[in-house]
Amino acid sequence: MSPKLTPGKMVIASHNQGKISEIADLLMPYGMEVVSAYDLGLEDVEETGTSFAANASLKAQAAAKATGLPALSDDSGLCVVALEGAPGIYSARWAEREDGKRDFEFGMEKVRKALYDQLDDGDGRNDSRAYFVCMLCLTFPDGEEYLFEGRVDGKLQFPPRGTKGFGYDPIFVADGQTITFAEMEPAKKHAMSHRADAFSKLVGVCFGE
Ligand code: IMP
Repeated sequence: MSPKLTPGKMVIASHNQGKISEIADLLMPYGMEVVSAYDLGLEDVEETGTSFAANASLKAQAAAKATGLPALSDDSGLCVVALEGAPGIYSARWAEREDGKRDFEFGMEKVRKALYDQLDDGDGRNDSRAYFVCMLCLTFPDGEEYLFEGRVDGKLQFPPRGTKGFGYDPIFVADGQTITFAEMEPAKKHAMSHRADAFSKLVGVCFGE
């Protein structure tokens, strides 16, 4: 049976303001009244899964259970081809300093160093290919859940450029583009991102488009 979302309340199972605003923008045309786990003061869920899907499911299940509303979570990350997909599900953790504070300048520098160490081996030379993955999990209060995966391919570029967006946006240039996601108008990024790709799959199934 395919899930149908009727206009009404739903919770975005996230504490990440960048993701919340991107998802809220995407949902707006469908008459969904969104509130985030952050706004509701729900506890952040520990991401103990070993895949994007497992972590997305943990977050959406917890939010649906706590609120009795349909919940949509997003587990996403940056995957670098020469680093065998790292940081991947650990993208947020790569940006944590020793005191546990998230700092993406630090995270982006860590990615740059890891990539250059790799290049020093003569392995994957000039290979700056990377992609963002987004796994959306839509969960209903009865526990029924649906997963939608999206991806956008591109290249890494250093030093970071741009101040829009969030996370690793300043080092990512999508295929066919010359500017980073952080230099792009949000509407343009939102139309081509991994989140948009996953979302278009969700829309096809849930809103019959
Ligand atoms: P998580 O899904 O909460 O584990 O966090 C995913 C992490 O991946 C975010 O904190 C960002 O660092 C990164 N990420 C996910 N999507 C994007 C994006 O659209 N732009 C930049 N970074 C992203």
